[in-house]
Amino acid sequence: MASPEIRIDQLTGARVLLAPGRAERPDQFGLDPWRPGASADCPFCEGHEDRTPPEIDADRPDGPASGGTGWRTRAFENLYPALAPKSGGDVGSGGDVGSRPDAAFASSADPLLASTRGADPDMFTSRPAVGHHEVIVNSPGHVGSLARLDAGQLAIAVAAWRRRMLAHSDAPYVQLILNQGPDSGASLEHSHAQLGATPFVPAAVARERERFNSYRERTAGASLLGEVLREEIRRDDRLVAIDDEVALVCPWASRFPFEMRLIPRRPSPGFETDEVGASMLHRAVQALDSLVEGELQMNLWVKTAPRGVEYFHWHLDLAPRLEPFSSFEMATGVDINVIPPETAAAKLREAIA
Ligand SMILES: [Zn+2]
Repeated sequence: MASPEIRIDQLTGARVLLAPGRAERPDQFGLDPWRPGASADCPFCEGHEDRTPPEIDADRPDGPASGGTGWRTRAFENLYPALAPKSGGDVGSGGDVGSRPDAAFASSADPLLASTRGADPDMFTSRPAVGHHEVIVNSPGHVGSLARLDAGQLAIAVAAWRRRMLAHSDAPYVQLILNQGPDSGASLEHSHAQLGATPFVPAAVARERERFNSYRERTAGASLLGEVLREEIRRDDRLVAIDDEVALVCPWASRFPFEMRLIPRRPSPGFETDEVGASMLHRAVQALDSLVEGELQMNLWVKTAPRGVEYFHWHLDLAPRLEPFSSFEMATGVDINVIPPETAAAKLREAIA
């Protein structure tokens, strides 16, 4: 049985535990294969446009500019948003220290009562989550997986993701994600991406940006991910595929089995201002799909430059959902991956067209 190994992700500095021996442990649960059902009640299907919030973007080559059928992609605000445009109301302070009776304390002599630090306004901070949370439907037909889209339709969908990200370029950060399958966090099976335009730069993105900056300063101008990619191509044991535009690798510190990272060959800060990668994404999801029973369940996300950041190198990450999260990951933020990226890359090289 191979010994566990700690690896550090070059971009985030996060540690990962590679534990291939754990792949052999008995598993009484596992994840059930996902088999998408019927489309009769699906609000994202063509013909059901009246079941979504108002359309804000559509690729409708032969039809009217807005409304009705005939679209290839379609975007609208999420009906259940995690971020919402500014409204008149204000959620105010989360630390309403005066409203809770002291009866929760054991007695008036409870030492917890002696502390008044809970009145510190910084201890329970809260502010409105002002931003946008959009849904971008990837195809008019009822498909669950990106692997069911042909290369042309996937390119049209990726162009829509970029268009919607550009529409929110005034936000501090724009996060593009896609959840595919019930175990990925998706609540509707019809393939769709989601965009979160946030009023802050998420910590994971800020950390990546800092590491890009410090590497650049240390090396008199080199790109961290550009140098990682150069070395992955030279070493060749985690490289899955490469074309004129982008490379596909299983990252050195892969957090999940068969995780893949799509990296533009020419360092470019913003995914949304670039044009490359859709054809390799098509090949990547086809390869992943061929390895799973049922439809591919997957998390996908793009890391792109925050607003106004010049030195960054976008990448798109794919994490097939093959195992549930466990308490160790939740407690520590350290993922345990039972399939080393070298093993995954070898299988994916055989599977990719
Ligand atoms: Zn549908």
